[in-house]
Amino acid sequence: MKATADLWNQITGEIKSQDNEAGLKLFLNAIQPRGIEGEKFVLEAVNEICKDWNERKYRILIQKVLQENAPPLQCVFVTRLKRSGPERPQQLGLPTIAETPVIETVAPPEKHRSVPRGETQFNGKYTFDTFVVGKSNQFAHAICQAVAKNLGTMYNPVFIYGGVGLGKTHLMQAIGQEVLRQNPKAKVAYLSSEAFTNDFIESISGKRTSEFRAKYRKKDLLLIDDVQFFGGKEAVVEEFFHTFNELFQNKKQIVLTSDSPPKKINKLEERLVSRFEMGIVADIQAPDLEMRVAILKRAAVDCLIRVPDEILMYLAENVTDNIRVLEGAFNRVVAYAGVVQRPVDRDLVDHILKDFLRENTPGRITISWIQKRVAQYYDIPEGEMTSKRRSQNLVLPRQVAMRLTQMLTDSSLSLIGEAFGGRDHTTVMHACEKIQGLLKDNADFRQEFERVTRYVNPQGRT
Ligand code: ADP
Ligand code: MG
Repeated sequence: MKATADLWNQITGEIKSQDNEAGLKLFLNAIQPRGIEGEKFVLEAVNEICKDWNERKYRILIQKVLQENAPPLQCVFVTRLKRSGPERPQQLGLPTIAETPVIETVAPPEKHRSVPRGETQFNGKYTFDTFVVGKSNQFAHAICQAVAKNLGTMYNPVFIYGGVGLGKTHLMQAIGQEVLRQNPKAKVAYLSSEAFTNDFIESISGKRTSEFRAKYRKKDLLLIDDVQFFGGKEAVVEEFFHTFNELFQNKKQIVLTSDSPPKKINKLEERLVSRFEMGIVADIQAPDLEMRVAILKRAAVDCLIRVPDEILMYLAENVTDNIRVLEGAFNRVVAYAGVVQRPVDRDLVDHILKDFLRENTPGRITISWIQKRVAQYYDIPEGEMTSKRRSQNLVLPRQVAMRLTQMLTDSSLSLIGEAFGGRDHTTVMHACEKIQGLLKDNADFRQEFERVTRYVNPQGRT
């Protein structure tokens, strides 16, 4: 097996050929090899943000180098721990890299992980203590806290609604995690209405409906996210209706979220609407300036980089859409400051916001937007959307993008073919059929496709 230094040279060579000298320099500023540990090739990032950023960008490339040269090594990214002295892996004869003065090199607390508990995956970040309370969400927050302390006895069901990125999922998961903290044996399920639907459909085709029923009707707390997607789905609504009634009769807690109040949910059956209105309905509004600043201050503490208050204010004034976009803008600024080794100042923020806001608010969905987002999602260069290369890790994303273009724009098949590197309309048709086949047969892919779709079209525009 090759030594760390050889592998590192090869990896940096690949990065350089993909991203030229400047890209490599950014990478080297952020990432160092720690060495081979068992079957792991461990790469160390200066902080969590650089870790995420570089992992997303280069993991596939690095893994490919390892696979070709040193199987079965797997690449693993970690965050550098704080050290007393400037101990660097120079004994390996690696390129030396300047110390990074802008960034503190403390490993952040390990709380942003997804926390598996029973069958449910919670995001470790979505708890009550990371939730910033302000005018726009204090009512919903108070209800959720009360419910976590008084399961099934105080407000049932709880229905939280509000626009995208305003903290509905966060609050809902906070209830689940708080309940489990108080009582690790509590039976809690968190899932989206789409996941519930998929599980139901699978249980029918696998003849496991009684198993399915037993699973959801025996919970102490059932959290169903984004119930607007139940609209117009009769079979699953019937099933959910019975699940709901049984839980409710047994005084088990039900919490629901949606993008609109029960009555406004498109094509939702009246009997569900009236069930959803039986307990308490609370909304979350867009955050005001004060709250946006508070959220950024929190984020700034978490990421261990110093961002002056006036810059937080400036960001909060300029990014007004929702909290997810606000956090995204903030992370982008901090990551950029980290890799270019510049303090966070207003010029830097302007520079980044310009691109960020343009990327995040397309007026309508265009083919190039779809290509860009799908490439980002799969972590492949955008150019591969139009290239002729046929390796499997490129073909599938390309087909996904073609299918999404067919769904989300009014382009003809031949126009889509043209936009994807001058392909024939039959190629596009084949791609769309292939994706539909996968959606039908493969539950994992269905979820993946849903995620990509949301990534491309977060506002649900059609
Ligand atoms: P929704 O489900 O309403 O679309 P999310 O719960 O996914 O929104 O929230 C989007 C992002 O914003 C998440 O990263 C979440 O942690 C963060 N967020 C939302 N509201 C708050 C808040 N009040 N305090 C801290 N973070 C928040
Ligand atoms: Mg959500």
